[in-house]
Amino acid sequence: MLIPFEEAIHTVLSGIQSLGSERITLADGLGRVLARPVIARRAVPPADNSAMDGYALKHADQGAALPVPMFIAAGSWPERTLGSGEAARIFTGAPVPEGADTVVAQERTERDGDGPVRIVKPETLGANIRRAGEDVMPGDSIGQVGQSLTPGLIGLLAGQGLTWVDVVRRPVVAILSTGDEVHEPGDPLPRGHIVSSNSWALAARVQEAGGIPRYLGIARDDRASLDAALDGITGADVLLTIGGVSVGELDFVKEAIAARGGEQRFWKVKVRPGKPNAFGRIGDVRWFGLPGNPVSCDVSFLMYVRPALRAMQGHAHHFLPTREARLEHDLRKRVGFLILFRGVHHPDDAGDLMVRTTGPQGSGIQSSMAKATCLIVAPEESEMLRQGSRVRIVMLPGEVGQAALGVRRP
Ligand code: AMP
Ligand code: MG
Repeated sequence: MLIPFEEAIHTVLSGIQSLGSERITLADGLGRVLARPVIARRAVPPADNSAMDGYALKHADQGAALPVPMFIAAGSWPERTLGSGEAARIFTGAPVPEGADTVVAQERTERDGDGPVRIVKPETLGANIRRAGEDVMPGDSIGQVGQSLTPGLIGLLAGQGLTWVDVVRRPVVAILSTGDEVHEPGDPLPRGHIVSSNSWALAARVQEAGGIPRYLGIARDDRASLDAALDGITGADVLLTIGGVSVGELDFVKEAIAARGGEQRFWKVKVRPGKPNAFGRIGDVRWFGLPGNPVSCDVSFLMYVRPALRAMQGHAHHFLPTREARLEHDLRKRVGFLILFRGVHHPDDAGDLMVRTTGPQGSGIQSSMAKATCLIVAPEESEMLRQGSRVRIVMLPGEVGQAALGVRRP
């Protein structure tokens, strides 16, 4: 049965919950997802402090020459209250003494050696004082469940003196290649045989998606070899098998999964590339049977597996971001399928995104994935997309920032 993409992804995501939590050091936090809310326990900044190198004083005293009996460096604490008609020498980050309500930057003052200071350009009341708690107050909610740890958030948590954080566990993703013709890179390659390039691409995709790849090697096209390899899924959250499930193929993968009591479902989705996909579970391990053709394999990962891995990690957003771009050339396609062409996008002189295909688009053309910065979405019902027309593009991981910054590509 041919089903639309929406139905397939709905089936994949339904029932997926975020995995349990683990406590990690903040240094390992980048990209992880908060599993517990974080409530501030400290005020930031902890005390009123100076935003400038200059003089702390009373606003009303700015007309007179002021003696400077106090010296407050960052890291010290004022030993007394500032009196009327006095100024305190103060530096950026140093606590403002009681009695002072304004800091005047040194560029606005004149002073001879250790003599009194004169304010040349007076400041407004309260100038250059960073107030205690103006950034964060104790009790503020500074991290929500599901929030990704960005460098900014890591800084905010570190500012609270936190050295650890509770995040959602990363899914362990077992990867198994299949095929009598498939070999490890570096191993002798008999005539007509190929290297298991997909497992390398997938392991990298898993890492990018926040998962932990566990490579199970290559199973031959026989039950014994598959059964032995599948023993390696213990403790994994996800199993990706590559190849061996297409129609007319030897059906060992299906058999081996069934023999372990796995539920399985096979479908043809109205999306190309991505010919036959299988999906199911063996106990708690979610199984994706990905096609062997390199482009189909990679695109299927991006379409179905990546959102599932994101959901398992508790991310709020599961899908790759999309943008609108203008086609640099006509694009002909088959009606009835949503086609994802591999594309290269770049901003034109006006900053509008332009996109063209990477060249040959066969499902075995791995170089198309290596060149691609995006996938061009050609809707199911269309037959011809014209040069200059607007299309949706799916940004490939790692390409979003460049496009957003308008970085030019050659
Ligand atoms: P299959 O789905 O097993 O029929 O494989 C479809 C195509 O993908 C065949 O041309 C295979 O040789 C190729 N293929 C299968 N597994 C891999 C792999 N791990 N890396 C690269 N190509 C593969
Ligand atoms: Mg095969």
